[in-house]
Amino acid sequence: MKGLWTGLVVVLLITLTASPISMQQVSHIPIFNGSDAYEYLVDQCDFGPRPPGSDNLSLSRAMIAETFQSFGWNVTFQNFTYNDVECVNIIVRWNSQNNSPIVLGAHYDTRPPGPSDPGSGLGANDGGSGVAVLLELADILPEETRSSVEIVLFDAEDSGGISGWGWIQGSIYYVSQLSAERKASIHAMVLLDMVGDINLELPRERTSTTSLQNTIWNIADQLGHNDTFIDSYGGSITDDHKPFLDAGVPAVDLIQMPFPSSWHTLEDTPDRCSAESLEIVGEVIEVFVVEETDTITDFPLDTPTLLFIGAIVVVALAIPVLYTQLKRK
Ligand SMILES: [Zn+2]
Repeated sequence: MKGLWTGLVVVLLITLTASPISMQQVSHIPIFNGSDAYEYLVDQCDFGPRPPGSDNLSLSRAMIAETFQSFGWNVTFQNFTYNDVECVNIIVRWNSQNNSPIVLGAHYDTRPPGPSDPGSGLGANDGGSGVAVLLELADILPEETRSSVEIVLFDAEDSGGISGWGWIQGSIYYVSQLSAERKASIHAMVLLDMVGDINLELPRERTSTTSLQNTIWNIADQLGHNDTFIDSYGGSITDDHKPFLDAGVPAVDLIQMPFPSSWHTLEDTPDRCSAESLEIVGEVIEVFVVEETDTITDFPLDTPTLLFIGAIVVVALAIPVLYTQLKRK
């Protein structure tokens, strides 16, 4: 019996070490500037709280669009009505065709006061931070990589549970408008949500596509950011990556877990965020875009649950084989 247990341990070790983290070296040296990104975060907060349908959100949207355009990108507004409120997703492309293999997303609305919370106030982190990183990326991405990327800023993400509203309405609408062809042409959707806290910690979100997540966490490790991109699992979040996953598109959510104490409070202010945190996330995504432009990867759709079941199946299949072999001795 001792031999059987040794055999089982060996099989388990082989299964675990065969997890698909490749140790590819990063070749592109990132130039992402965290201070510039932090300015974009403050610029949004200067408009005040920015819930769906508000004048503040319109002003912020105009500023965001003008900034992308000043870097040479094309901006279109995707209008939709939800619960009688006019909502607008912002779609940013390098040229007019929409076949970019990478979609980078963030929500740009903030949470209004709810029945049991005061909303997110200025929403520096919750809303502001993801947009800030994407604006700076749009400025610094090498020109030859830009047509690989479509940037989408979602409206109406954060009003769930208020007056009959659901969460993530902007991304639900955006994905509902994609053709089957377009869905199939997206190789990776990367969502940035709450990536600006001073004490930024990004464990792996559980519903995200593992192969895509592995690639991003590997880049973070190569850049020395493994104390921010933590190699352990946090929770499962209903976020703007979900409609993409539901449509069969590989997607990953970069989101702080547990949520910082400023989350959905009036303390979600710029002083709780830092240029350093934005820079860490920006560098990782910059390198990801450059590498994916060089070699477009087909990220297999899977989840941690499937991997776990896979490991159990391997062990279960190995037991009778090992047992027979031991019996023969
Ligand atoms: Zn929120």
